[in-house]
Amino acid sequence: MPPFAEKPDGLVVIEPLKAFTCAGCGRDDDPLLRLEDEQPFCMTCADLDHLIFLAAGNTALTRRARKASTLSAIVIRWSRSRKRYERQGLLVERAALEAAEEQCLADADIRARRREREQVRRAEADLDFQAELAAEIRRLFPSCPRERAEAIAQHAGTRGSGRVGRSAAGRALEENAVTAAVVASIRHEDTEYDDLLMSGVPRQEARDQVRAAIDDVLAIWRA
Ligand SMILES: [Zn+2]
Repeated sequence: MPPFAEKPDGLVVIEPLKAFTCAGCGRDDDPLLRLEDEQPFCMTCADLDHLIFLAAGNTALTRRARKASTLSAIVIRWSRSRKRYERQGLLVERAALEAAEEQCLADADIRARRREREQVRRAEADLDFQAELAAEIRRLFPSCPRERAEAIAQHAGTRGSGRVGRSAAGRALEENAVTAAVVASIRHEDTEYDDLLMSGVPRQEARDQVRAAIDDVLAIWRA
């Protein structure tokens, strides 16, 4: 990778100038990519698709959101004129961004921005599909808490995302696809996975390290 203007500490994600094909799943419509061993991966394959984009510009908000987010990634884009990568913003957890916004409420733009984001989320949500998906999660994992099943379904069933629940298999509520959505959620929420990624552990190695912890939660939820 060509030089970056600053020394990035943490994960780096690239907003490419041209469309790319994901080396993991083959999709070619993700606007962001992460390089792993020189290969481009989409945000879903890179396990970063639950993060939301915060554009650079508000320094206090960025600093606070990053601090509050277990997993975060810097988004950079190549500048043809300046011949270097430049920071576009940050991918952070929704909850972290909202906590940071609370701390910055003096900024009157924030409520408007949140409303806008919420409108986009609603517009993209396929509520019927999400309800079906949540019910299917509860059927396969009867001990998964109801709110958690709904949150997983909401994340997986957002229109236009490459997330598990939106794949053809997920639409048909195929069992493997539903389980994959549940596993992805457990990985981020109930294991050390995000901390491992942030500390620089390669994705496959981090996945291997948390596999047993995921299986434990799956066994509890299946009961
Ligand atoms: Zn992919």
